[in-house]
Amino acid sequence: MKLFTVGPVQMFDDTLDIASKQLPYFRDQDFSNMMLQMEDELKQLLHLNQGKAVFLTGSGSAAMESVIACCFQTHHKVLIINGGSFGDRFVKLCECYHIPYDEIKVPFPQVFSKDMLENIDGTQYDALLVNIHETSTGQLYPIDILSNFAKANGLYLIVDAISSFLSDPFDMDRYGIDCAILSSQKALACGPGISMIAFNDTFYKEMIEPKDDSCMYLSIKAHVENMKRGQTPNTPAVGVLLEMAQRIHQISICGVNQVILETKQRANYFRQLIQTLPVKIPEYPLSNTLTPIIFPKENADKVYEYLKENANVYVTPSGGELKYKMIRVGHLGNLSLKDYDLLLQYLKEAIL
Ligand SMILES: *Cc1c(COP(=O)(O)O)cnc(C)c1O
Repeated sequence: MKLFTVGPVQMFDDTLDIASKQLPYFRDQDFSNMMLQMEDELKQLLHLNQGKAVFLTGSGSAAMESVIACCFQTHHKVLIINGGSFGDRFVKLCECYHIPYDEIKVPFPQVFSKDMLENIDGTQYDALLVNIHETSTGQLYPIDILSNFAKANGLYLIVDAISSFLSDPFDMDRYGIDCAILSSQKALACGPGISMIAFNDTFYKEMIEPKDDSCMYLSIKAHVENMKRGQTPNTPAVGVLLEMAQRIHQISICGVNQVILETKQRANYFRQLIQTLPVKIPEYPLSNTLTPIIFPKENADKVYEYLKENANVYVTPSGGELKYKMIRVGHLGNLSLKDYDLLLQYLKEAIL
C-alpha cells in the first residue's frame, strides 16, 4: 500500500516501530520531560520565541474548535478567509459559539488576491482567521499580504497551518502570527489523534486568560496549567505523542528547512512529470503539500478507484462538487521520487 494522501500519510519506519510498542504510563517524570522537550522543539520549528504550545487529544478540528471556544467572546468579531471546506469549518465553529464573523469567500478556482481585502474596513474586527493552505482545493494563501493586513488593522492573526507546516516556510514571529493550529497526521506523518495550538504570550494574556471557559475538554487554560509540568488535563493519545516527540526531535536536528526542501522537491518532480498527461493544475498558488489535478473528462472518482483497486495506491479524492473534477496527490511523509515514477505509470493506465 502506498499513500499519496494528506493525512494519515506514508509513515516512517521509526514511527511504525514506536507505534508497535507497549504504551508507557504517562503521569510520571519521564513522560513530562518528553512533553516539555517536545514543546520547546516545536516552538523552535514554528519560530515562536515568547509563547507556549499545548497538545490536545483530538484531530485537527479539535484545535480549531478550542481556539474559537477559548479565545473569542460574543463581543468580538472575526474575519474568516473561506475558500473551501476548512474555511467553512471556522464559519461553522463561530456559529456554534456565537462569535460574530464576516467571511471573504474564495470560490473554486478563484485566486485569492489583495484586492479582496481592499474594500474591507479591517478595524471593525478583532482577528483574522485563515487556513493558510486550504487543503480542500490546494490553494496556498499569501501570508505576507494577510500578515500586513492584520498588522495594519491591529488584528490578531490566527493561522490554521495544519496542512502547510513543514511543507511551506512558516514563521510565527516574522509574520506576527499570534496563534497557530497544527495536527499530528499531516506532515509530521504520525497517527491521527493529537492537535496542537501554539500562541505568543501577549495573545494568551489578552485573549485566552481573561475568558471564562465555555468548554472543559478543550480548555486551553487547563492545558497550559498542566503543561507547566509537562502534563495534560486528561489521558492523552499517549502513543501519538511518543511518535510525535521522536519526529519533532529528528526534524529539529536535521532542520525544518531540509524537510520543506525535500517536500518541495517531490512536489516539483511530480508537477513536472504530469505535464505529459491530459490533466490540468489549477492556476492559484500551491503548497508543497499536495498537487490538485483536474480531469477535463470529470472522471476523477474513477481514477481514484482504479489506483486503489489495481495498484493499492491511494490519492486524495475530493468532496462535494469537486468529486468528479479533481484528485489531490500528496507529497507528505515517507515518499521518494521513485514513488512518483510509479504513480505516473498507474495514472497513465487509469486515464486511458
Ligand atoms: C486536515 C486539516 C484539518 C483537520 O482536520 P481533522 O480531520 O480534524 O484532522 C484542519 N484544517 C486543515 C487545513 C486541514 O488540512
